[in-house]
Amino acid sequence: MTSAIDTMLDDTALELAGPDPAQILHRVFGHPGFRGRQEEIIRHVVAGGSGLVLMPTGGGKSLCYQVPALCREGLGVVVSPLIALMEDQVAAMRQQGIAAAALHSDLDEEAAREVRRALAQGEVKLLYVSPERLTLEGTLSRLQERRIALFAVDEAHCVSQWGHHFRPEYRGLSVLAERFPGTPRLALTATADPRTVADILRQLSLGDSPVFRGGFDRPNILIGAAPREQERAQLRAFVRAASDNSGAGIVYCGTRKKTEQTAEWLRADGLDALCFHAGMDAKAKRAAHRRFARGDAVVMAATIAFGMGIDRPDVRWVAHTDLPRSPESWYQEIGRSGRDGAPARALLLYGAGDIAFARHRIEGSPAPAEQKRIERSRLEAMVSIAEAASCRRRILLRCFGEDGPENCGACDVCLAPPRLFDGTVAAQKLLSAVLRTRLPSGGHFGLGHVLDVLCGRLTAKVAQFGHDRLSTFGIGKDLSDPAWRGVARQLVARGALDVAVENHGELVPTEAARPILRGEAKVMLREEALSAPAAKRGGGRGERAPAAARGAEPAMAGDPLFDALRAWRKREAEEQGVAPFVIFHNSVLEAIAERRPADAEDLAMIPGVGRSKLERYADGVLKVVRGHAG
Ligand code: ADP
Ligand code: ZN
Repeated sequence: MTSAIDTMLDDTALELAGPDPAQILHRVFGHPGFRGRQEEIIRHVVAGGSGLVLMPTGGGKSLCYQVPALCREGLGVVVSPLIALMEDQVAAMRQQGIAAAALHSDLDEEAAREVRRALAQGEVKLLYVSPERLTLEGTLSRLQERRIALFAVDEAHCVSQWGHHFRPEYRGLSVLAERFPGTPRLALTATADPRTVADILRQLSLGDSPVFRGGFDRPNILIGAAPREQERAQLRAFVRAASDNSGAGIVYCGTRKKTEQTAEWLRADGLDALCFHAGMDAKAKRAAHRRFARGDAVVMAATIAFGMGIDRPDVRWVAHTDLPRSPESWYQEIGRSGRDGAPARALLLYGAGDIAFARHRIEGSPAPAEQKRIERSRLEAMVSIAEAASCRRRILLRCFGEDGPENCGACDVCLAPPRLFDGTVAAQKLLSAVLRTRLPSGGHFGLGHVLDVLCGRLTAKVAQFGHDRLSTFGIGKDLSDPAWRGVARQLVARGALDVAVENHGELVPTEAARPILRGEAKVMLREEALSAPAAKRGGGRGERAPAAARGAEPAMAGDPLFDALRAWRKREAEEQGVAPFVIFHNSVLEAIAERRPADAEDLAMIPGVGRSKLERYADGVLKVVRGHAG
């Protein structure tokens, strides 16, 4: 076996040994081995094959095209939809000693000319390009003059109009199959929805190519959901449990306005928070992206417009303050946490109004019936995850065609299973209060008033409508208001109650309420709904989680050497104008702090330290280590 120092010094070894994927992985990226199906995919592409890779966010898709691009002769072309992030990707590649460049419409003319020159001279090994740039005739014909190692189409679900990120420019990519028939095309996405998959295969002419489906589980993400009772208190508790003072966090909000408000109160809490939504101009968006990529413990309050191409590996938590549209989008969003494999957390806050609103939005949309049916089933799958009384991860994975274990050990339900009990009487009381308070005009009241009646509170409105004379007045004093809200939400979730969102949140019983009222249907409720004080469930109860799934304290937080290495990395990153993680991930710094390498040879043995980084940083890192002698 060659020693690490030989590896470091022998520049010609790579060429002599031939471009073996495992060797490239080790020497260039510093990783000891492949993950999941990476090796199989990489060998397929190196041999000239095309295909589609389905892996969850953070599953390790990038290496599936980066390694083959280095193994094959010619230029690797990576189609990436997000200009703002190409810069970081290119910087990360250059840190690994790979000649990478980006071509997109935001480059000024001079920079674009320089990239074209470098391309023409054969000085570029990996080109990141936006789809609109790539499909320009000029670009295509220039590329046709060169040898192309492969085309990688990242975020390939953008090609599908069924997906939530449809990008018309992606349709133009069908030209690749015609113009470069012999060149491997690898499409990659985290969206495994069958319709989207079919679209990608068709649009990119991959019909005869294999689909590589990686395991979808991301076991390091502790997932939880809770009814939204006191949003800010719940978020605060969650952030406290989940953040590690160095990694980032994301709060997904349903509206642009809410992203701004959320960032504002988070800042008032002393956090480094900013917001992001599609209404911001391109420059502001890019600035926000950069700040997110570079800052310690940054919090982004964003709409789902913020997401694709977030490369930061140490996002420690993702919270949603509104119900996502589908399990696919939720998983993609929470999958942005914990890419480094270290513990991460996700919290979903939602309310009955969200569920009703989403149902109404689908019904009221002009989409064709078939699409509505699909959207409805996605939404209902999402509701069943939110309302789960058994392992949430198992329900989630089933949406991706996978069977998880009965008990994942890393979701709030598995960690503290809610008890189910017969809530039929409570449901009947609530439904009958809704029915009896109905106005002669047919109008209904919202939950607030219904609860006043149930709990026997003689408000002005109760008196005005004479609702204190109803037989339901005061029959619900046995339960607290939050408990009643839980009952109402669960009735909405199972479709027995509707919330007229556009009409002051009127509660309207549906057909499904009848059998419950007649005592023909039993209603099982989660006990949590009857006893939980607000903000308890899922609101970040780190104390109950087992150590493995616990929040996100980095193992070495507070270690003087680790902190010194982070400070060194920060200076280095600022000098080079790149994001800190581009230099070394936290996990690498942790390993360095733990093993205290004495020389370059020791350092080269640490996973994540490839040859190029060793050359660049061995001196700096070793100096810091020596300055902190045990
Ligand atoms: P995706 O594109 O699928 O969301 P990435 O390609 O960004 O995921 O990979 C996620 C993280 O996993 C990155 O930080 C990457 O460095 C790391 N990673 C991927 N493959 C390996 C491997 N074989 N060994 C070690 N780390 C890996
Ligand atoms: Zn579970």
